[in-house]
Amino acid sequence: MVWKGRTGTRRDVLQAGIAGTAGIFASSAPGKAGARAENRTTAANDGARIEVKSGQTLQISSHSEFQPWTRFRLGDATVTVVSDGRIAMGDPKKWFLGLKEGELEATLRESFLSETDASLAQNVMIVDMGGRRVMFDTGTGGSPLIGPTAGHLRANLDTAGIAPDSVTDVIISHGHPDHVLGLVDADGRPVFFNAQVHISEIDHRMIAGEPNSADPFAPEMKRQMTAVADRVAMIADGRQVVPGITAFAAPGHTLGHMIFGIESAGHTLLNTADLGHHQAIFTRHPEVNFVADMDAAMMVSTRRRYYDMIATDRLGFLSYHFPFPGVGHLARTGAAYAYIPASLDTV
Ligand SMILES: [Zn+2]
Repeated sequence: MVWKGRTGTRRDVLQAGIAGTAGIFASSAPGKAGARAENRTTAANDGARIEVKSGQTLQISSHSEFQPWTRFRLGDATVTVVSDGRIAMGDPKKWFLGLKEGELEATLRESFLSETDASLAQNVMIVDMGGRRVMFDTGTGGSPLIGPTAGHLRANLDTAGIAPDSVTDVIISHGHPDHVLGLVDADGRPVFFNAQVHISEIDHRMIAGEPNSADPFAPEMKRQMTAVADRVAMIADGRQVVPGITAFAAPGHTLGHMIFGIESAGHTLLNTADLGHHQAIFTRHPEVNFVADMDAAMMVSTRRRYYDMIATDRLGFLSYHFPFPGVGHLARTGAAYAYIPASLDTV
């Protein structure tokens, strides 16, 4: 996939970046690897020494303040990825389940990631094609149950020059709060008030029907779906949602979870929504389960099928939760995969 894009910046990005970097180094938690960490010096050049602390990793989050949006061409279409922020998850062992003893820690350590503190980006894709502006998912809407690191979509859309009233279609990949709750504001008004809302019938029934009393997000999701009830259209497997965008069933994470193919002038990009939640764990271990999977075994088989296709056909794809902007490829590594982020030209 050819990706010629540019990244949105803020005037304060340099200052914030410097302060952020200092903070990152100062707060770098040693984790398990740190138990073996030792300070030593190594030769950087003739006579020059550099202090090295082994076990230290760079924890650079896809923080919306630094990189709120990016834009690239896909055939005749324009694709903008706008960050909603990130979900701060804390201990990865609570979220990523089903691996053998030590595999999760090893995957994170070998990927230069913290073994004790995980986060998931929130990448919202907007496609301009054929006179329509199509947005995929809506972020958390600032839900206090998810926290202040997410819910920045509205502000970042402004930065990217995308007015809410210019969105013609909102596609909801599945009925989970980090994708749905930006649909309607606190006063009950649809945020994207000119847009048709597309969702699978199965997930629409799940969140617009009788709320599940065990799900703390259910009342708010129902309130939002009720507020857009007059503009909801159902997505079906293998059918075009709008011209150039085709839906494909990807059940398991939820039973109505869908992914999408975007095609323009011979170029293709897949929006894979929540096919995998983490760039290292789900690609190196496609058999992993996410704590919120409704049918984990079904999701593993769905993931294996689509990851095989993405690698074999060398398809470019977007993941909602991979590090911003979450666009890249999958390389096959034996029975698993490696995620290769797309290269970004700034000029
Ligand atoms: Zn999600």
